[in-house]
Amino acid sequence: MSAAGDRRGRASLPSVDVVLRHSTAAGPARQHGQRVLAEAVRTELARLRDTIAEDESSPDVDTVLAGALAALELRRGSGVRRVINATGVVVHTNLGRAPLSDAARAAVMAASGYANVEYDLATGGRGSRTARVGLLAAELCGAEAGTAVNNGAAALLLAVAALAGGREVIVSRGELVEIGGSFRLPEIIAAGGATLVEVGTTNRTRVEDYRRAIGPGTGMILKVHPSNFRLIGFTEDADLLELAALGAEHGLPVVFDAGSGLIDDDASAGIPDEPEVRAAVATGAGLVLFSGDKLLGGPQAGLLVGARDAVERCRTAPLARALRIDKLQVAALEATLLAHLRTPVPLEVPVIGMLHADDEVLRRRADALAGALARAVPDAAVVTVALEGVVGGGAAPGVAVTSHGIRIGGPHATRLAARLREQDLPVIVRVVDDGVLLDVRTIDAGDEATVVEALRRCLEARTRR
Ligand SMILES: *Cc1c(COP(=O)(O)O)cnc(C)c1O
Repeated sequence: MSAAGDRRGRASLPSVDVVLRHSTAAGPARQHGQRVLAEAVRTELARLRDTIAEDESSPDVDTVLAGALAALELRRGSGVRRVINATGVVVHTNLGRAPLSDAARAAVMAASGYANVEYDLATGGRGSRTARVGLLAAELCGAEAGTAVNNGAAALLLAVAALAGGREVIVSRGELVEIGGSFRLPEIIAAGGATLVEVGTTNRTRVEDYRRAIGPGTGMILKVHPSNFRLIGFTEDADLLELAALGAEHGLPVVFDAGSGLIDDDASAGIPDEPEVRAAVATGAGLVLFSGDKLLGGPQAGLLVGARDAVERCRTAPLARALRIDKLQVAALEATLLAHLRTPVPLEVPVIGMLHADDEVLRRRADALAGALARAVPDAAVVTVALEGVVGGGAAPGVAVTSHGIRIGGPHATRLAARLREQDLPVIVRVVDDGVLLDVRTIDAGDEATVVEALRRCLEARTRR
């Protein structure tokens, strides 16, 4: 029982001043700032006042301070920080999707001060924020023109608003998808100020269905890659090439939301069924949209490539300003596009490198990781395992990416996973059938020693209990 234990109830709680003047408060006050700490103490005292029963002993100053600091930690401690991704999911939306290449990181650093984002160094006049990424994206995709906005959803919203605002957008019923929780196609179309016209059925839609729906109010034809789900069995969807021809016949823009940003088959690493942006552009569709941070392996961004007039209408639409890409994204995107322009399979872009990782190399890395852990923790129940990972980011659903890693058995797999998350450099793992799985594909080779050390600490904490 504390020294204050004899004093009973809420009335005897220390005051804010008493807590702040206490000798143990000096360090936290320096660390967090006096005002922040005072506010946390006030909040903690209010909480105690509400929860302590009248006849309960009143907590002492140290207890109040500890409570306030714990609340502060909770609020401030978990800002965005680096983690080690041992899940094997290459494009992990919850872990920041694509890790950037060294060149893209350097470009972000360089742009984080003053930078010529909208300044033309040749003339000293105003420049365009997206002119260069637009050119690079267009060149990479074989398009007349290109531009970029904040993300894929913004690209679609902008295309709808700019090309079909106040008019109708024709979409197949098989493509009215929801992607990632808050991206629902009908809602985006409504938000873009257009009216959705559904054609076909869930499993079959033909070009004739689109043709019949075209009328005086039609603003555009939209085709959406369903990304995170697949219809199998008796299905049919209209070919983009045929839709592009239909659009041309009626003078209507045809927009294709390709989603994942696979540029062409070279970069696919054998992933089936992902649309290739270059091939889509080559059909003559007016506009092809894709994300920057999925299979392209760059920063969060939404790219729009295609016919010059369609891109220009998007670029100059009033909404474009609200959806614009920020300078750090521009810098990283330029570097990523340049890497793709240099070679069809830029392995230095981490997403591309990880998807193309050699099976034998992954197996050897898993062996080495298991060996290092067995040396560090002789009684660790560690074995190497063949794993099935996924691409992630809504790309190639249902397609397993075979990989290699280690499995750690023994009691309390969930608790081990939780301890790994609590490390200064958190290690994110999968728990399957009471085992902790680490897939080496997504672990940077330079982080392997850190992973072994984290595992050693966490496993030793487990045996101490
Ligand atoms: C991922 C995806 C989007 C959303 O892109 P964000 O960059 O996440 O905003 C839109 N459409 C398709 C087809 C997608 O796969």
